[in-house]
Parts: sequence; structure tokens; C-alpha cells
Amino acid sequence: MKVFHTIKEVVQWRTQEIDRRGKTIGFVPTMGCLHNGHATLIRQSVQENDFTAVSIFVNPSQFAPDEDLDQYPRTLPEDTKLLESLNVDILFAPNAKEMYPQGIPLDVSSQRGPFVNVLGVSEMLEGKTRPNFFRGVTTVVTKLFNIIMPDNSYFGQKDIQQFIVLNVMVNELFINTKLTMVPIVRADSGLALSSRNKYLSPKYLDISANIYKGLSDAQKSIEYSRVEAQQSIDRETLLKKIETVWEPYIITGDFRIDYISIADFNTLNELDEVNPTDKIVISCAVNVFDRNTNNTVRLIDNIVM
Ligand code: AMP
Repeated sequence: MKVFHTIKEVVQWRTQEIDRRGKTIGFVPTMGCLHNGHATLIRQSVQENDFTAVSIFVNPSQFAPDEDLDQYPRTLPEDTKLLESLNVDILFAPNAKEMYPQGIPLDVSSQRGPFVNVLGVSEMLEGKTRPNFFRGVTTVVTKLFNIIMPDNSYFGQKDIQQFIVLNVMVNELFINTKLTMVPIVRADSGLALSSRNKYLSPKYLDISANIYKGLSDAQKSIEYSRVEAQQSIDRETLLKKIETVWEPYIITGDFRIDYISIADFNTLNELDEVNPTDKIVISCAVNVFDRNTNNTVRLIDNIVM
């Protein structure tokens, strides 16, 4: 595997070192601290493409000034070993100056240079709590697409709204790459794997598994209404299912709910009821307060059905 830190090296690899004729490049952008979720995306890319490029870049522009940019776990030596073992062709790990030649202060009003914004869908759900988050994601992913020029790009369902936003971006900026969404990889407990799980003590990792359990109970109710009863089910019933599982942790202050969404898969518009044929996504963001470490960790999860 080649490890590149500069754009020049990547462009040289793509234009001079490999023969691209009739061959495909798959691309997996990440922020590092790689786990089995990332590995699943990478395996799919390696399987489906002649070459696979992975980027590791903790992108400042998607962090608000009060978020965890400095604390975000960075494990480049371990990540590099894992990528070698997965037969990745290139790792691109630039620094912030390489990606943002004019610098990238976290305060948006002092930022200079080009930014990409997908209005509408990036203002909902995650975008409400984190107003400049998707602007950061769409900007850095556009830059990475321009550098790597991948035929196929792989993103996780874990960040479902990110996938939907990027899909709009690729379609409407006419970017020539095919996006693939890879299902969520979970721990045995059901907890969705995330680099931010590193902030949680074992006890709170167990407690956090109830996030998925709540969503699963709503899923079971929808499945029942679809298959057995063949009728719609209303939003309030589903919210109650989720909150019943979460209630003990809400009462103690371990969970603070940011949002629960039961929405149309394509538009993310909230639904008052779920009909048997609707394609929907149940998603949530929960702030978990870990009394052992005093960390508050914002976890997201979702189920598509
Ligand atoms: P990140 O490093 O957190 O920016 O994630 C990089 C990519 O890996 C994104 O497309 C994520 O959606 C995806 N990803 C992260 N966690 C998981 C997971 N548990 N299952 C599937 N994909 C994931």
C-alpha cells in the first residue's frame, strides 16, 4: 500500500503510475480510528474495484468550535496496518493545510475559500443540532472526489442523512462517481460501531446498546402491522415503543434525546403514520452521559425498512 500525504502524489499515482483504462477506482473516505464498520466498506470496495483508495482526514470544517475536533481519536499507525491487511492500494492522509490552502478556522464567519452547501435536506435532523456539519462534509467530500476521481464511492448507512445529502450533491453537481450505501455494522450488543464509542466506559457501552433496542422495538411493531395486520401504524405508538426502552436511562440522566425521527426514506419528511408499503427510516441522536468518564457522547443510529 502506498501512503500519500499530498494531493500531488495522489494525482501522479492516478495519472501516471496506474493504467486506468477499463479499470475502476473505489474510494472510502474516513476520519480514521478504523473499526469493523470501516473495514466492511473497504472490503466491498476492494471486491468491486481494481484499485481502492482510502482517505483518513479529521475534517475541521465539520466540527463546531464547541465540538471534539482536538479529542477526536487519531490512530494512524494501527489504521495503516489494518488497511495493508485489507489490500488497499493507497491511503491518502493529508493535513489540514493541504485540504484548505487558506486555513480552516472553526468559526464559520472567519472562513475563506470555496464551500459546498446542499440546501434543504442538510438543514433537517442532524443539521438542526449541527448547523454547519453537512457543509463541512459536502465540502471535504467534493475536494476528495476531485483529487481521487473515484468511479465508485462507499459510505455507511450509519450516517444515513450524510448518504442522502451526498446523493443529492453528486446528482445535482453532476459529479461522476457512483455512491453505494453499506449496511450498519454493530457490536454483538447491537450498538452501532463508531469511532466515538472510544469515549465510553464498558458500563456505558452496555447502556448505549439500548439505543438500538428501542429502535428495534419500533421496527418489530412496524413489521407486525405490515405483515400480520396489513395496516398502517401511527407515529405516537412507535415513539412510545422507543421511549419505553429508553425511559430508565432518561430518568437517570444517562440519555438525553436530541431527536427521534420516523421519516420517509427519500425526503426525510416526518410521517404521522407508517403505511405498509412506505420505505422509511427510523433514526435518532442521543447524548449519552458517562458518569465514569464524565464524557457526553452524541450517538446516532437508524433502521431502514
Ligand atoms: P467516519 O470515519 O466516522 O467519518 O466514517 C467513515 C465512513 O464509515 C462513513 O461513510 C460512515 O458512515 C461509515 N461507518 C462508520 N461507522 C459505521 C458502521 N458501524 N457501519 C457501517 N458504516 C460505518
